[in-house]
Amino acid sequence: MASVVDLHALHRFHLALKSVQDELARGPRQVRARDNQLAQLDVEKKAKEDELKQTRAATDRKNLDLKSSESKLKDLDRKLNEAASNREFDILKGQIAADQASNSVLQDEILESLEKVDRIMQEIAAIAERRAKLETERNAFAAQIDAQAADLRKQESELKGQVQEAEKMIPESIKAHYRRLVDAYGADGMASIDNGMCTHCFVSLTPQIAVVIGSGTGTPTFCPSCDRLLYAIMS
Ligand SMILES: [Zn+2]
Repeated sequence: MASVVDLHALHRFHLALKSVQDELARGPRQVRARDNQLAQLDVEKKAKEDELKQTRAATDRKNLDLKSSESKLKDLDRKLNEAASNREFDILKGQIAADQASNSVLQDEILESLEKVDRIMQEIAAIAERRAKLETERNAFAAQIDAQAADLRKQESELKGQVQEAEKMIPESIKAHYRRLVDAYGADGMASIDNGMCTHCFVSLTPQIAVVIGSGTGTPTFCPSCDRLLYAIMS
């Protein structure tokens, strides 16, 4: 009795299995992409926090400079009141004017620094907000992926059973060859023929091979060009 070797059905099971396995792999990959985005935001936030620390330290230094310069000015003012000569008075006057000018520059710089501190703090808050949103979204997505995974694993196990069942039709003489192909290429180890051509490599088969495959009887054949296990789609 010649058993019908329904390679088309076997290939369908292989393809369905591959699609389920691809989907199983895709979920965790998408979760990892979100984790990478979170890590990237952490790096950006850390850089901003470092910048904030440096800007605050610079502001503190300028404030100290200003304070010491102001106390020096008070000292000069006192000396000015006690000036013993016009010459001393003029020199002190000049020093006071120069110090006042440099203090004014310092005050502008401090103001700028404080504005910068405000701006960086706002930037840090914006990053933290983006991160919180993304994390909420990531956790909801991961939970959804987990819920789907249970169902996909069930489908995967069913399809593996269907593949094994369908593989029983494969003649012993080509089983090892078939196994090698499926181990190496998965569902891609098989190809249908269309118009006398292998649909994997699109090489035209000899009419004899095409006829044998088209009849669906006899030992299944491998593509002479790409080695895929060939089958005809029976209508
Ligand atoms: Zn081929």
